[in-house]
Amino acid sequence: MKLEVRGLSKTYGPGRPAVASVSHVFPEGRISALLGPSASGKSTTLWMIAGLADPDAGQVLLDGRDVTNVPAEKRDIGMVFQSYALFPHLTVLENVAFGLRTRGVGKAERVARAREVLETVRMGDFGGRPVDGLSGGEQQRVALARALAFRPRILLLDEPLSALDAKLREDLRAELFSFLRALALTTVYVTHDQAEALALGDELVVMREGRIEQSGRPAEVYHRPASPFVARFLGAANLVEADVSARGDALRLPFATIEAPDGAEAGLCWAMLRPEDLEVVGPAEADFTAALASAQFLGPVQRLRVFAGRQELLLDAANDLAIGDEARIPVRMKREKIVVFARGEGEKPPAPFVPPPGAAAVFDVFPRTVN
Ligand code: ADP
Ligand code: MG
Repeated sequence: MKLEVRGLSKTYGPGRPAVASVSHVFPEGRISALLGPSASGKSTTLWMIAGLADPDAGQVLLDGRDVTNVPAEKRDIGMVFQSYALFPHLTVLENVAFGLRTRGVGKAERVARAREVLETVRMGDFGGRPVDGLSGGEQQRVALARALAFRPRILLLDEPLSALDAKLREDLRAELFSFLRALALTTVYVTHDQAEALALGDELVVMREGRIEQSGRPAEVYHRPASPFVARFLGAANLVEADVSARGDALRLPFATIEAPDGAEAGLCWAMLRPEDLEVVGPAEADFTAALASAQFLGPVQRLRVFAGRQELLLDAANDLAIGDEARIPVRMKREKIVVFARGEGEKPPAPFVPPPGAAAVFDVFPRTVN
């Protein structure tokens, strides 16, 4: 089923809106990961789609039909909450069957369907158990079963793994993702975890301060972020104060001048390069040389912190490259990977992103510019 939102807005109290005119078409039968920092309006957006919060303005459309004023239980939308919101005094089976009762399904049919969906999430043997004795992962599967029991055509999940500790979360991620992919429902999965969003989503929707900042395939958003904020939010990004020459042909970095990327506009800019877009090369191929400040072995790569003059840069080198206390490391920039953003005079780069607990190690280190 096709899900579309148009101009969806909500303000709770005085101050800035929680959600400000969000419009988006969620691809049918695909998983969209809705990613953004805390308080960026992800949950509010989801609640309005589900019919659990009233928008101040805008519409929710299911297969083109306006359901903005249709009550939640008549929307064909299943939802898994951050807290799971299971009923502690009911058994697993009763929890799963509960939503069917409010939708007017008869008793025998409720039990049959609850059993069936518990099998799907591999909880078939747990029907008679009280939910409060279950592990976090088991509760999460019950919550998913409950959302699926009435065969919704849209599935919404609000940070379904965030209540779990980091280790368990990593274990369950792959399992949950394979369930979700197999379901092939139009799914909106809210998370503030970049690694989760990149790995899961067929589509990535990045929210910031109540608005959609960018959407697209995960690789596209990662490689071609629309703003310095998105660049930094999705992973480590070197943001170098640079400028494009008046004729638009040269990109002048503090430590090298190279040909400007196609379409770069003349004037001040940020030149964005991810650590993996910088390579240690032979001296003849180098764009500049850098001095090593520190090296961190991450397994697949070693992340070097280097200085090109006064500019600090992160660089991912091969994990078997032998590096001593080198003062002159020849470095090449992968030209095609450089992204240029217009920059105002005196503009500061977005604050380094603080990774959520349990996020992949690759997000842990961020560069700073030393002035
Ligand atoms: P996210 O899920 O991205 O963390 P939310 O949609 O929960 O963001 O919140 C967006 C903004 O709206 C935040 O500033 C939050 O404090 C506010 N907000 C959310 N729910 C309520 C509520 N029920 N009452 C008042 N303010 C709320
Ligand atoms: Mg939230």
